[in-house]
Amino acid sequence: MIQKLIPKSIVLVFFLVFFLNLSRAQSYIPLDTTSNALRENFITKYQLTNISYTKKLKTDYDGKLEKYLNNNYKTFSEEFLKEIKRGNFIFDEKLLQYAHAILEEIKKNAPEVKSNDFQILIAKDNSLNAYCFPDETFVLNLGLFSWLENEDQVAGVLCHEIAHVILKHSLKSQERNFIDETRSKNTIEALKEEKYDRSEIAFGYLKRILYDTAENKKNQEFQADSLGYALYKKSKYSKAAFLKSLQLMQKYDSIKPIGLNIKIYKEIFDLPNQKFNEKWLLKEDFSSYNYTNFKEKINKDSISSHPDTKKRIERIKSLFPETLEKSTVNNAEMSFLNFQKIARFESVPNWYYDEKYGIAIYECLLRLEEKKDPQYYKEWLGKAFKKIVESRKSYTLNRHLDRIDAVNQSESYQQFLSFMWNLKLNELIEIANFYEFNKN
Ligand SMILES: [Zn+2]
Repeated sequence: MIQKLIPKSIVLVFFLVFFLNLSRAQSYIPLDTTSNALRENFITKYQLTNISYTKKLKTDYDGKLEKYLNNNYKTFSEEFLKEIKRGNFIFDEKLLQYAHAILEEIKKNAPEVKSNDFQILIAKDNSLNAYCFPDETFVLNLGLFSWLENEDQVAGVLCHEIAHVILKHSLKSQERNFIDETRSKNTIEALKEEKYDRSEIAFGYLKRILYDTAENKKNQEFQADSLGYALYKKSKYSKAAFLKSLQLMQKYDSIKPIGLNIKIYKEIFDLPNQKFNEKWLLKEDFSSYNYTNFKEKINKDSISSHPDTKKRIERIKSLFPETLEKSTVNNAEMSFLNFQKIARFESVPNWYYDEKYGIAIYECLLRLEEKKDPQYYKEWLGKAFKKIVESRKSYTLNRHLDRIDAVNQSESYQQFLSFMWNLKLNELIEIANFYEFNKN
């Protein structure tokens, strides 16, 4: 009886998984990023924020510094508004509500978070990152939801950003820049009087500024971690998740290094009206190139794309050892997983929106190799190839498809780029037409 039950349940599980995948593919509707009401609402509110923040700067600072800060802010907020109007942010009601609910959860037990004016925006950006502005606007990249594992980790990242705002880090950095710039002017004046070693003195001065800036940035990150964690640990969220979000950040890198099996090319590009041509896979000979160097470089890069993450992790481990305890997070929490699913589905549309058609195609091939939602990714493949055709015709392909770079790209990505650059215009058109019109 028991023996019979097991295979039956396995069949059932298999069926469910299969069915769920199927229904997921059919039911996914891309986020409506043009929700005008929400966007207009934000813009109106943000213009009021601009006015009150400008006033605040006038009361807190004076003289040339106040002018400097206000000019910076003016330039920034104008640029930011342009970006919003251009559509670089996602105004999805549910997603924004979810993000604001996390913020409320943090604020509930943290009286030091006084402001009620915090605003969160979600950027159409696939990278694991978040940032904040001194006027209490926070930006969470959609990539946070695809690379992080649960709500607790998102809360951890948000606490760190809130701490930056409470500690006025952006203003302090700008103040330092202002002092540096004033000093530079004086130094240049003084240098004119110097007879010897002028360039050496100037270089030493520049080096000191750069070093101070880096050091200052590192210290700000440490401070934001400490205060961020102090806010975080009062919330309901798992202490371990605070550390884990940083560890995931360290691990995070672009999708480029992920390997793509060469078989997928024949599978996808052998079409009824255009047989697969092995010559498409030919690439320049980089055999002399040592790929272990590449791996090292990637490791270095992933650390430098989030500078000092390694040091931050070590510091948190030693200051807050409770973050090393086993996580109590329920990883299957539905609301987070729902947004994670959305974020992952939005990844290719985001590359497409960003006009990075090459990477969009590369990611489509990766998903097709995993046999994930083939219908969805084939449609995007068609769309992206159509854009490649257009840019090839207008001689702008360089903008949308990377050139091969033996030092900075993985072997698989170089193979992909060789394939793309090998295709002739008529071949590209055939592929675009097939995937655009033939909905298999
Ligand atoms: Zn930071």
